[in-house]
Amino acid sequence: MNPVVMKFGGSSVADAACMRQVAALTRAALPQAPLVVLSAMGKTTNALFAAGKAAESGDLPGALEGHRALEAAHRRAAADLVGQPLPLALDETLAELFGELELLLRGVALLRELSPRSMDAIAAFGERLSTTLFAAHLKAEGLDAAWVDARTVMRTDGNFGAASPLFQVLDREARARFLPLLGPGRVLVTQGYIGATEDGLTTTLGRGGSDYSAAIFGAALGATEVQIWTDVEGVLTCDPRVVPGALPIPEISFSEAGELAAFGAKVLHPATIQPAVEARIPVTVRHTLRPQGRFTTITGEVRTGRPVTALASRGPITVLTVASSRMLAQSGFLARLFEVFARHKVSVDLIATAEVSVSLTVEADAPLKALAADLSAFATVEVSEDRAIVAVVGERLKHTPGVAGRALGALGGINVEMISMGANEINLSLVLRRSESEEALRRLHRALIEEGVA
Ligand code: ASP
Ligand code: MG
Repeated sequence: MNPVVMKFGGSSVADAACMRQVAALTRAALPQAPLVVLSAMGKTTNALFAAGKAAESGDLPGALEGHRALEAAHRRAAADLVGQPLPLALDETLAELFGELELLLRGVALLRELSPRSMDAIAAFGERLSTTLFAAHLKAEGLDAAWVDARTVMRTDGNFGAASPLFQVLDREARARFLPLLGPGRVLVTQGYIGATEDGLTTTLGRGGSDYSAAIFGAALGATEVQIWTDVEGVLTCDPRVVPGALPIPEISFSEAGELAAFGAKVLHPATIQPAVEARIPVTVRHTLRPQGRFTTITGEVRTGRPVTALASRGPITVLTVASSRMLAQSGFLARLFEVFARHKVSVDLIATAEVSVSLTVEADAPLKALAADLSAFATVEVSEDRAIVAVVGERLKHTPGVAGRALGALGGINVEMISMGANEINLSLVLRRSESEEALRRLHRALIEEGVA
């Protein structure tokens, strides 16, 4: 039977009460053969990084204090989840884990050296601990629960801190080690984020890597669905702090999610779910505390529905308007222009061209003086700082005429300094003063999403 993968992030397993809720969701999913992938509890990974850094700087007492606090918190949660005194096996496992962690921290402090390899070994304790507690809780509740060390499945290269999965090996391992333990009525618990090299050295996929783990496991096992449980009701149409009427999006495409992520929207980074999307497995983003509430499905297919899916904005950015001061042919002008940006390693985001001038946007921290000095050899440069890009994103924008006109109409008196339709035609970008970007988002949301586009 094809399992369902349920991934819970740090905030969903932050304490015993949260873990109980996760256990309830797991129980409800028993008929679907759940594979539960967990992050570390709350801010545990941050605490492990801090302890590692303290040890590296020679502050062993500080590192051990961090260790003590983590042990106390995990033992408190364990007592809450399975009762006091802890069953002997669990007590021993916790003692072993914290003993190993202490040895590592002492080793780092002695050498005053924290290689990415050592840091991964230390960071992996967060997920090893959270899954140990959770599996013990499920068993104490009478569930048929198994625990697998993800390091026996998630085979990676040796790029510690940001390891790349070795898909062929791990697909095989996932089927060999996970499948026999999966089935209706049983739960399999494993860790996100962590893996191991062929030699058995612990690695991590990089911060926030648990979503990636879930998508990889889901793809390897042909899961019916990969559920990302978190603290939002899916992906929203806009940042709710700016637009209180922002709505959950029922369905969003992989490319739309990519555009939004590039604008810093609070959305899964699509690269992390690519394995599932390629395997055509739907990925859903759900709220752990409101399981009956709304959620978002991310799919590879082009959705049908309204032309505008979501809005996002990014700033401050800087706009440079560069006009040829000589009568260079357009082609020679553009070549010289981009050569200057390349030389200063400045990446250009949006571009709008006219006959003898070009407007482009760069990050606010770009070396403007140096750029302007080099450009002044053949062009005049006008700099507008403190601007923002507002992006109107929608898979169906390309088939829907009039959205740009409608957007400009909705903005009324707000001056749009640049407008650009991305080459993939799912992102209409507007550049305006940063001070006006929030009002622009509210007006666009009203006109393009709340009222919709005919
Ligand atoms: N615990 C890891 C982190 O905090 C991985 C994850 O939560 O996805 O980065
Ligand atoms: Mg996370």
